[in-house]
Amino acid sequence: MNSQLLDQTLLCPCNSNQSYRICCGRFLDQGDFATNAELLMRSRYTAYTLQRADYLLTTWHTSTRPASLDLTNSPQRWMGLTIKRHEQPYADRAVVEFIARYKINGRAYRLNEISRFVREQGHWFYVDGDILSD
Ligand SMILES: [Zn+2]
Repeated sequence: MNSQLLDQTLLCPCNSNQSYRICCGRFLDQGDFATNAELLMRSRYTAYTLQRADYLLTTWHTSTRPASLDLTNSPQRWMGLTIKRHEQPYADRAVVEFIARYKINGRAYRLNEISRFVREQGHWFYVDGDILSD
């Protein structure tokens, strides 16, 4: 896998306006666990920007996790994340609606998705999502 390392002092790709080190870097590089679904969503977005397939797979629920994930040749250039909504109606279930912006060959796209998350043994996992059309 061809993952990228990020300067720890740079602003986090998830647009939290915090440094990568104290934002998603805690989860991607230091082994901390996201304490809610929004933090996990942010860290998974950041993992996409850094082609960290390892992190995406370990935070994917076993019921929906792909057997493998190769982001090496993915054409997207990720441009930013906006969290629209984070709801946790039950202790171990949450939804996060977000907009992720990206470019392919210079053309801009946006992905608006409602993602579902579950918590098992204290750890949050991504389950699946519904893509909303504009
Ligand atoms: Zn972040």
